[in-house]
Amino acid sequence: MSACLFCRIAAGEIPATRVYEDDRLIAFNDINPKAPMHVLIVPRAHVATLNDLGPDHDALVGEMVRRAAAIAGDRGYAAGGFRTVFNCNADAGQTVFHLHLHVLGGRRLGWPPG
Ligand code: AMP
Ligand code: ZN
Repeated sequence: MSACLFCRIAAGEIPATRVYEDDRLIAFNDINPKAPMHVLIVPRAHVATLNDLGPDHDALVGEMVRRAAAIAGDRGYAAGGFRTVFNCNADAGQTVFHLHLHVLGGRRLGWPPG
């Protein structure tokens, strides 16, 4: 059994509120949402951080970003706006070391982020 939280969620070993899944990606609601919409887009394959991506991952990352826009659009946030975030390592506050794209929307989001 994997020790990685998001591998375990992808495998169905730990519950999450899934909002999308296919053979390469899952998306589920963040357990500690920072906005009315806070979805995490997660590849089924384990990649620890952005630093671990290679050319073979280009299509996967493209799918993650396009899925983020599709989910935001489905919620009605395409025109008003939404935010996507990849946190990488300690200074960005990454806490789960399995690649994930945050998708936030439904409120005015400050810039720069904290
Ligand atoms: P990061 O800080 O970028 O690594 O983001 C990790 C995110 O995972 C945080 O926003 C957490 O709230 C979220 N998270 C942690 N555990 C769970 C869980 N069991 N289900 C859903 N989201 C989670
Ligand atoms: Zn993992």
